[in-house]
Parts: sequence; C-alpha cells; structure tokens
Amino acid sequence: MFRVCGSRLLAAHVSLPQNGVDLPAPPRHQLGCLLLTEDAAALTTRLEHNGYLRPLPERDAGWVPGDRTLFPDGFAGARIIAFDHEQFVSSGQGGFRVWCPVDARNATARFVPALEAWRRGGARSLACGCGGTHDLTALTYRPDCGFAKEWLEFSDVGAAELVAPDALLEGVRVIWRRG
Ligand SMILES: [Zn+2]
Repeated sequence: MFRVCGSRLLAAHVSLPQNGVDLPAPPRHQLGCLLLTEDAAALTTRLEHNGYLRPLPERDAGWVPGDRTLFPDGFAGARIIAFDHEQFVSSGQGGFRVWCPVDARNATARFVPALEAWRRGGARSLACGCGGTHDLTALTYRPDCGFAKEWLEFSDVGAAELVAPDALLEGVRVIWRRG
C-alpha cells in the first residue's frame, strides 16, 4: 500500500508543471567518443578483428563491445557516421577556443567567419593576425575539434580514456563529445 501511494505521488510530482513552468528536460551529459578517420569501415574491421568490437546481428546496426576493453568503463554502442562532404566536428560543448599554429595567438574571433565561409564553398583557411594563412585543420582547438567525412561514433563511454594500442588507431583523430 505504501509503495503504491509513493509511486503515485512521484508520478504526479514529475508530470505537473512547477510554478506554471514545465520542468526542464534532464541534462544531456552522456559522453561520446568520435574516431575521425579516412576509412571508418577499415577502422571497424581492425577493431573487430582484434576483439574490441562485436557486430550486431542486424545489418548496418553497428557494434557493441567485444571481448577486449576499448574504454575502461565500457561503451553502449558504436556506429559509422558518413557524409558526402567534409564536416567540421566539434566537441559539442560550445565555447571552444582556437589558436594560431605559428605564434599561438588567439584566433577564435577570426575562426567563426572563416568556418562559415568554408561552409559556403570557400577555401578551408583562415587569414590570421600573424600575417599567415592557415588551413583550418592546422589550428589548435580546445576542446579538440576536427574535419572529416566519416568517423566511428561510440555512445555513452564511461570516461574520456581510450586504451587501444596506438597501432590500431594510427591516423585516427579522437574527439570527445558531451550530450
Ligand atoms: Zn597565425
């Protein structure tokens, strides 16, 4: 009897607006890991053959953890994301900052218009305050960002730590993403 009352009270409390304002959605705080690569299919094959990934039975459904540990606290699933055109891949946290690769000056203010120009079909470059012109991929980003047409996306990894041998991840850029 007590348990029934308790659950009814809880349900009513959660579904009713507070002070006339709808309750905010729960914060999205899952951590994801993106492995940017020239060839995501080849990367998944390497990880699968080495026991880090196990394919789901349905075709194209993705992968789940294999017998070996890729992230110390595991992950929920993995899938390939692919686009026809190169994408700017950010951490999803906003507020990232950008620095010149030559003299480490802050180039954040120049970066946003440069990125927008590139997305409109312009060159993938930034006219920097140092006097040079830098490829956007040459800039230093914090949190780290990257450019890629395809990547392997891991959802709900426990912590921002990857433990696979370097040889398996050669040529791969690692982006951690919240949300
Ligand atoms: Zn510069």
